Amino acid sequence: MSRVYNFCSGPAALPEAVLEKAQSEMLDWHGAGVSVMEMSHRSSEFMSILASAKARLIRLLDINDDYEILFVQGGASTLFSQIPANLIADFESACYLDTGVWSTKAIKEAKKYTNVKIAGSSKAQNYTTVPDLSSLALDEKAAYLHICPNETIGGLEFSDLPETDLPIIADLSSTILSRKIDVSKYGMIYAGAQKNVGPAGVVICIIRKDLLARCDDSLPTVWNFSTVAANDSMINTPPTYAIYLADLVFEWLEAQGGVDAIEAINIRKASALYDFIDSSSFYSNPIDPAYRSRMNVPFTLANDSLDALFIEESEAAGLRTLAGHRSVGGMRASIYNAMPMEGIVALIDFMRAFEQRHG
Ligand code: PMP
Repeated sequence: MSRVYNFCSGPAALPEAVLEKAQSEMLDWHGAGVSVMEMSHRSSEFMSILASAKARLIRLLDINDDYEILFVQGGASTLFSQIPANLIADFESACYLDTGVWSTKAIKEAKKYTNVKIAGSSKAQNYTTVPDLSSLALDEKAAYLHICPNETIGGLEFSDLPETDLPIIADLSSTILSRKIDVSKYGMIYAGAQKNVGPAGVVICIIRKDLLARCDDSLPTVWNFSTVAANDSMINTPPTYAIYLADLVFEWLEAQGGVDAIEAINIRKASALYDFIDSSSFYSNPIDPAYRSRMNVPFTLANDSLDALFIEESEAAGLRTLAGHRSVGGMRASIYNAMPMEGIVALIDFMRAFEQRHG
């Protein structure tokens, strides 16, 4: 068996220790005589897994009692619709910050439910920067402000939050658990699991309890955040195996020293890669240095006719999935929590040698 360094943006690399533990528990979970995949979601065994995943997430992100944790399905894209459907209530609009592809997709869906007000946009800068957060066009009568603090495709990340009384709803799909955040500053956080949390199939939602009062009975039952919360994410069969893997990833993260410790490693990983890109005239990254993503590092080659060769040679060198998103081209290295520093070193060594051969 030979494992490679996997730079996929998602589903992304998982910690090897997690995969090994899942493998060792695959046929017989803790003496139950069955795999987690084969047990009732209402069994005491699975209920203990769900409770453990919640407890670990609460510890890792220091979540207080004002918040409810939900495990939902349909991917983060379903939340683009579920959020306005649940939270518009009697409000007449919702504010959205437009910082790239994923913000744009969230805006498109929200427009089907409400009057969307664009609080700020960096579209004119080709999404290479973030609008000035201190001068956003915020409608303080709106239902909420939606932001995407890490644009997975563009490779743009910001951590400051605008000053507002609106509940801030953040799509943290590609940055959750990679850096410290103050959950109490958000109305709601959501994240598809398949980058920093586990396999695809579950979305983590952390929602302030007072917002649940907005959810209307006319909503489809499985879409209603309030009903899902009242049923402890068991309104129907939850994605049991994905939740189990998330629990193992949370356990692994705790063993690494938690979010602070992994953030320090993530800073070193991203800095090494950006420093190398900046030191080379062959590779470049277009993003405003103040807002470069620590998780997704897009880069282009000076000569794009070499792109296909770069992919071919990198794959042969054990560096997988470096092609940029199909909508933008170029390259992208996604370096979530599970990517070790050794993977970054291997990537930089390869890039340097490729430049020497072909630059
Ligand atoms: N938001 C962000 C920031 C993402 O990166 C993605 C997926 N790459 C999504 C939403 C959509 O997630 P899903 O495919 O789970 O619907």
